[in-house]
Amino acid sequence: MQIITDIKQMQEIGNNWSNSQTIGFVPTMGYFHKGHLSLVAEANKNCDITVVSIFVNPSQFGPNEDFSSYPRDLQRDLELLNQYKVDYVFNPTPDQMYPAGYKTWINVEELSSILCGASRPGHFRGVATVITKLINIIKPSLMFMGEKDFQQIVVLQTMLKDLNFHTQIHPCPIIREADGLAMSSRNVYLNSEQRQQALCLSLAIKQAQEQYKQGIDDPQILKKNASDLIIRAGGRIDYIKFVDSVSLQEVKQAKDDTRILLAVFIGKTRLIDNAALGSY
Ligand code: AMP
Repeated sequence: MQIITDIKQMQEIGNNWSNSQTIGFVPTMGYFHKGHLSLVAEANKNCDITVVSIFVNPSQFGPNEDFSSYPRDLQRDLELLNQYKVDYVFNPTPDQMYPAGYKTWINVEELSSILCGASRPGHFRGVATVITKLINIIKPSLMFMGEKDFQQIVVLQTMLKDLNFHTQIHPCPIIREADGLAMSSRNVYLNSEQRQQALCLSLAIKQAQEQYKQGIDDPQILKKNASDLIIRAGGRIDYIKFVDSVSLQEVKQAKDDTRILLAVFIGKTRLIDNAALGSY
């Protein structure tokens, strides 16, 4: 496993391999858990060369968000990656990625301003821009991304199609703790009481799936019941939406592939989760 910090060097490696081999790329912000590692395992399975990036991307954090306090532990991350066949870890600095005078941004219209984009203005502009840069540097055939960030996948799939990239996204399922909480680097912010409260996200999803299975297909009713559960548990709702899994537009009648997407504050920590209603 080679650790590359220099953009030019990574670009030469990407150019070199992409002629003859499939490069599987796992973009991350580090502080690994089993969700990240499942993407690495999937890249190993599907591609000749595996590249993992570890870069806490400043441009996807808002001014009042947790960029400076975001958890980081490069040594631990590298040790965890050693259990897999990772050929390269790309770990650039923010100054290299956004040098003085940087001016170019990618904006995927409409999809970037709803759901998480409504509460985090500029977030998906930062994500789309950094992924464009990373693709141009690494030259992957496939990019392995978690459905935990479902909107991110839809935004980036649209960008890849609109801008004629050859790279495709290989979506991977959400990895959860034994009690149902979706794994997230931000779970480390939760104290033990909040860790219990945080279960309300996966419980609300499960309840919506059960009620849908029993024949309730009115999103308003499903939403009210999910809200009640979350408020009772002490969560503060950012949004709960029942959306079409391709357009991310809210639906009037739920179907099997309708996605429940939610964002909830537990204390100061904002957590997200989602699932297809019919996948229970
Ligand atoms: P992050 O480091 O949070 O930017 O996440 C890097 C990648 O890991 C993204 O594609 C996420 O969707 C994915 N990921 C994060 N949490 C999980 C999880 N619990 N299960 C599967 N993938 C995840």
